[in-house]
Amino acid sequence: MKAFLIDVTKCVGCHACQIGCKDEHCDNDWAPYAAPQPEVGQFWLKVNQYERGGNSHVRVAYIPTLCNHCENAPCMKAAKNGAVYRREDGLVLIDPVKAKGQKKIVEACPYHVVYWNEELQIPQKCTGCAHLLDGNHPISVPRCVDNCHVDVITFGEEADLDLEGTEVLHPEWGTKPRVFYKGLPKKFIAGTVYDPVAEEVVIGAAVTVSGEAGTYAAVTNDWGDFTVDGLPEADWTVTIEKDGKQTSFSVSTKEKDQGLPDIALA
Ligand code: SF4
Ligand code: SF4
Ligand code: SF4
Repeated sequence: MKAFLIDVTKCVGCHACQIGCKDEHCDNDWAPYAAPQPEVGQFWLKVNQYERGGNSHVRVAYIPTLCNHCENAPCMKAAKNGAVYRREDGLVLIDPVKAKGQKKIVEACPYHVVYWNEELQIPQKCTGCAHLLDGNHPISVPRCVDNCHVDVITFGEEADLDLEGTEVLHPEWGTKPRVFYKGLPKKFIAGTVYDPVAEEVVIGAAVTVSGEAGTYAAVTNDWGDFTVDGLPEADWTVTIEKDGKQTSFSVSTKEKDQGLPDIALA
């Protein structure tokens, strides 16, 4: 069984994978795998960009997303006449002939990676570039894999991929995705600590982030900055102390990362 492995820690957001996918499928009829993708409105692979944090503690995360080729695929269940099928290698494909008029296939995908082709009246999505895998082509891997020059996306036999510590998107939906992610961002709390009397940053202050989800620690660096990364989504108490001075406050990572305003240690 094949699988994709996407290491988001290496992704620089260049979009070459996304462009490669368009180049491979726009105006190209890869029947029986897929009809041509329209030039606008569809991204069978999309590099989603997330701005994280705030104030002077901002990061950007890039997460390439495509069809997850789910083992328990809602799109297959919604399709009539076997219009969506799984190959022996695990790829889930939409038959462009049988799927004509079946808009329900678009709505059935909880990951929103199926697009409606208004002109052809068919649902379309990532094919895993099955036409390249099966055919006698110079490239024998998916085009997005070939286009990524920093090896973020890997495709191959599941047994040959290092899937230890990887995650899938929304495992709670029970879809059993076959696209595995390494390094999906967790939440972070970051800030800069300063002494309002001395009017300088505080170096070496002990920062403790604690709550029901655990306790995490950091120390402010030469610029008074600290970052506590890899946090679950939870409510926290942040305590900062140095030389008998202490400050404490509540913050939540339930909704978002926290790039805090400058913190006075009085
Ligand atoms: S080509 Fe590679 S580095 Fe560039 S956006 Fe895609 S996955 Fe990220
Ligand atoms: S990600 Fe969506 S389109 Fe792809 S197999 Fe799963 S349910 Fe179907
Ligand atoms: S495998 Fe092919 S169709 Fe799927 S996202 Fe990559 S380039 Fe696009």
